[in-house]
Amino acid sequence: MTKILVAEHAGACFGVERALRMTEDAARKAKGPVHTLGPLIHNHRVVSELRAQGVTAIEGLDEVEPHATILLRTHGVTPWVETQAKETGAHVIDATCPFIKRVHKAVERLDAAGYQVIVIGEAGHPEVEGTCGHTHTALVIGSATEVAHARLGKRVGLVVQTTLSRRVVREVVDALVGRVDELRLIDTVCEATRDRQLAAAELAEKADVMMVVGGRNSANTCHLAQICEERCASTYHVEHEDELVAEWFAGASCVGITAGASTPAAHIEAIQRRVEELCA
Ligand code: SF4
Repeated sequence: MTKILVAEHAGACFGVERALRMTEDAARKAKGPVHTLGPLIHNHRVVSELRAQGVTAIEGLDEVEPHATILLRTHGVTPWVETQAKETGAHVIDATCPFIKRVHKAVERLDAAGYQVIVIGEAGHPEVEGTCGHTHTALVIGSATEVAHARLGKRVGLVVQTTLSRRVVREVVDALVGRVDELRLIDTVCEATRDRQLAAAELAEKADVMMVVGGRNSANTCHLAQICEERCASTYHVEHEDELVAEWFAGASCVGITAGASTPAAHIEAIQRRVEELCA
């Protein structure tokens, strides 16, 4: 009989659950249209479930009706975007995760203290773009190899994209040591991310097959998949239970399931039920 184990820490984090609650609450109470500015979270399935409740993801503020409600998404936005949203006349609800708000405050402090701010993270990611908007001149560095080409100041202040793997942070810090006079790191990796990474690694060590559940556009889910692949050759990143194939589980004595911080519990349960059916 195949053992099916769910990682000790898996699925929707505090920030995502909070944003979902705020959005569903707005959808129930608002008299006019309800929009999220960009997808609320990086999970296609959740975005289409919200659409079914009347919440649409819009890309620009020019689409906003004055009697609408706009939710600023979990990843946060720049102060400029927040101001623009308010100027539309719509009711603005800020669903930015409070931990990401802390990163915004951290870069503002570093900036005010005269540090060159570096965000260790993925260039173009909405969280990173929102964070950069809170400083005058932020540099984004995604890996240790990028440090060699970076124009560095004498005093560098670092913050980290909340969902980044600690291995990348260590590599970038190692590459910076010796290249600047002063290096100050404010460790902004979120505990939820760290807990999910550690639990996924532990489970992947003993599983024959690993299922990683969540959006393929979700940075933290992709990092989990990478961590699992390094430990378990049969790792599959899936968004929906319909993607599962019986052959993946043939001969497996232990199947592990983990999920990114943007994956609701209901999606994990649906995957678990499907794995049970295919392994029966
Ligand atoms: S992973 Fe952490 S920082 Fe990101 S939304 Fe969840 S709780 Fe907030």
